[in-house]
Amino acid sequence: MDFRLSDEEEAFQSAVRRFGDRVLRPNEARIDAEKVIPPDVLAGMAELGLLAMPVPEEYGGMGASATLTELASEEIGRGDSTMATAVFFLLEAGWGYLLARHGTDATKKEVLPSVTAGKAFLGIATTEPTGGSDLARMRTTSRRDGSAFVVRGEKSFISGVEEAKSLGGGHLTLTRVEGGGFNFLYVPTRSEGITTQRFRNMGRMGISTGGLSYQDVRVPERYLLGEEGKGFEYAMEGFSVARTFVAAACVGAAERALETGMAYIKERPAFGQPLGKFEGIQFELVDLWTQVEAVKWQCRRAAWLLDAYTLKGDHSHRSEVDRAVAAVKLTAPPIAFECVKRVMMWFGAAGYTEDVGLERGLRGIMSYMVGAEGGLNIMRIILGRELLGKEFLPYK
Ligand SMILES: Cc1cc2nc3c(=O)[nH]c(=O)nc-3n(C[C@H](O)[C@H](O)[C@H](O)COP(=O)(O)OP(=O)(O)OC[C@H]3O[C@@H](n4cnc5c(N)ncnc54)[C@H](O)[C@@H]3O)c2cc1C
Repeated sequence: MDFRLSDEEEAFQSAVRRFGDRVLRPNEARIDAEKVIPPDVLAGMAELGLLAMPVPEEYGGMGASATLTELASEEIGRGDSTMATAVFFLLEAGWGYLLARHGTDATKKEVLPSVTAGKAFLGIATTEPTGGSDLARMRTTSRRDGSAFVVRGEKSFISGVEEAKSLGGGHLTLTRVEGGGFNFLYVPTRSEGITTQRFRNMGRMGISTGGLSYQDVRVPERYLLGEEGKGFEYAMEGFSVARTFVAAACVGAAERALETGMAYIKERPAFGQPLGKFEGIQFELVDLWTQVEAVKWQCRRAAWLLDAYTLKGDHSHRSEVDRAVAAVKLTAPPIAFECVKRVMMWFGAAGYTEDVGLERGLRGIMSYMVGAEGGLNIMRIILGRELLGKEFLPYK
């Protein structure tokens, strides 16, 4: 067991941290206020190789390991604590990986180079107005018609709807097949028959969330991922990868909050001494730091497992991977939320202002608590299934 990062990993981590300090932090308030990630920020990410990092070099990516991508996600969550940039990053990393693994050559050549260059957006569309947790009951269908699939239905709360329309690109879209099974299809947002809607969120304002309505949208068969009818399995594989990067972004946001808090409590006087001298504050810091440190290493282990098995197409350790990923998606967002909340309280009234900016982090991280990339209880259900067996699933 060796916990050291390689020289290459350390150098890349430092480069992304510098990018976070010099580009993301100064833009954070603007990203939140203007509800968009500025094009020069995306261009900077593309230049560093941060867009859809695990995509192989032949399609414009870095062919990065999950470990390297996890490290980058930590840094992006630290740089832009609103989570908008982190979401953009991790969706493309997770679902770009999946398209590269299961997409047809023609689709990969057509779609991935623009995604890695920041000239198109790639996301995931599984959630529907009737629910996102119980995916097996989704209603959107795809019916084969010659050399195309005809998609009909509605998706809801989908990240990057506006970006995919304005930049170009689309979403890997889970659809039900008549007679059983699911097709996972890349659906370009500009396809004929698609209408979009933007929702008004409370946080991570720099990336849109919205609805997609499909009125008999014809999707060429080359956009099908893997085998017909097997889409559910591919979607679950993509979730394992993307959820690890979600947790990593939360670790970065938590570390940033604690660093901000530490700097403050070393200086801010109360009752004749710095706040940090009071055990009531210091012990809180120590407890939070210990939890963040634990989940950080859990995240890195989850990424290591993905590299060792999933990214090699080896699903023999599925249970171990599922446990590791569900555990970090369950624990990282609440810990990050708690760190930001506590630091806000150390700041007193100033913590409640937009100027200090902690509230932006609180609003962004909350998206991972309510459901983005799977609700916390869904992680508990996965872990319960893994610990007790499928017969203990709380539903049929
Ligand atoms: C900002 C944001 C961005 C998102 N982006 C995307 C995206 O890009 N693509 C996409 O497909 N989806 C996206 N989602 C949707 C997300 O995947 C769903 O919110 C999530 O899957 C939960 O679905 P739901 O919101 O319909 O809640 P529901 O499924 O209705 O569940 C409601 C609550 O009940 C809990 N719950 C559900 N079943 C059980 C159970 N059996 N036992 C106990 N508790 C349970 C859930 O955890 C949740 O807290 C996004 C969500 C948000 C908030």
